[in-house]
Parts: sequence; C-alpha cells; structure tokens
Amino acid sequence: MSDMNPLTEKVRVVRWRMSNEKLRFSEELRIIPGWAYGLAILLLVGIEIVVPIMRARHAHPMPLAALIVVMVLVGILFVALGLLIGYVNRDAKRRGMNATLWTIMVILIPNAIGYILYFLVREPLVFNCPQCGGAVSARFNFCPKCKYNLHPACPECKNAVRTEDRYCPNCAHDLSADRPAGERPLTPVTPGAPA
Ligand SMILES: [Zn+2]
Ligand SMILES: [Zn+2]
Repeated sequence: MSDMNPLTEKVRVVRWRMSNEKLRFSEELRIIPGWAYGLAILLLVGIEIVVPIMRARHAHPMPLAALIVVMVLVGILFVALGLLIGYVNRDAKRRGMNATLWTIMVILIPNAIGYILYFLVREPLVFNCPQCGGAVSARFNFCPKCKYNLHPACPECKNAVRTEDRYCPNCAHDLSADRPAGERPLTPVTPGAPA
C-alpha cells in the first residue's frame, strides 16, 4: 500500500475511525477521573459565591429571579468545565497524546478555543489487536506484533470490509472462512484497564 498518496491515506484513516470509534456518551463519561468531579464541585461552589458578590457590588443589581437563573446557568457551565478538563486529560492519555500539555492548554486558552483545538486534532484511539491484543493505531496497516491485517479487504472483490463482517457488504462473499480462529473484536484501549 506504499503507492497511496497522503490524501487517500487521510480519507482511509477517517473512514476507519468512523466505523470503529463509536463513542457512546455513557461510556465516555466513565473515563472522567474522580479528581475532575472534585474540581467540578470546587468550581461550582466558587462561582456560586462570586455571582452574588458581583451582584451586590453592582450599582443596579439584577432582580432576585434573574440572579437565580444566572446562578443555575453558570453552575451548569462550571461543572461541565471541570468534568471536561478531566475528560481531555484521560482521553489524551489513552490516545497517546501529551495529557499534561493538553490539560494545561484547555485550561489556559480562553473562550473554549483550547477544547475546540483538542477535539479537532486529537489522535485516533489506540485499539487492541483482534489477534494478539497488542496496541494498534488507525494509522497502522498491520499489527506490528503479529502481522494481523487491520484493513482487511474482501478476497473476492477487493473492497474494504470490517473485522466484524461475516459477509462482504459488496459481493456477499463468506468472509468467515478466511478468518483466523480466536479473533476478538476491535476494542479501544482504556487507561488503567488490564491489557
Ligand atoms: Zn496483533
Ligand atoms: Zn466482496
């Protein structure tokens, strides 16, 4: 596959990510570390103290009903902010990115631009090889440990197929006959989980 141009290569990685990186919200919540919940509570308490003080110092303080609405909204915002910091930290780590650098960047760059940057440039998830369990990236064609083909193609029509397909979606060729036994589905590597 060395004749591939960089654009084809990029498109292929994006397509692979779209079919394999199915991130479920509930599962993504689980990677948020405990300290991020602590941070979220600290931010929440802090901002709920600051908002009434700012109101009291204002020459024309807003009505109480408006104050409550503002407090609820900034409260939600700051809790989300604390949890997102923890999420970026863990997510960067499991993608093999510099977790400390990205955590500092999302905190320091104003107007959520750090977060936008992060979600635009984050690396593909690292997966466990279906054959040997070693760590593999979407950028790999083959597993570096066991030579497992990470971008399998149908032997009949040469169209790309997914690891979990039993039949080729294009020509209905039975793919299970060509599969090595003991193959597991592609699963993302989670930090802290046993390999
Ligand atoms: Zn392998
Ligand atoms: Zn086929």
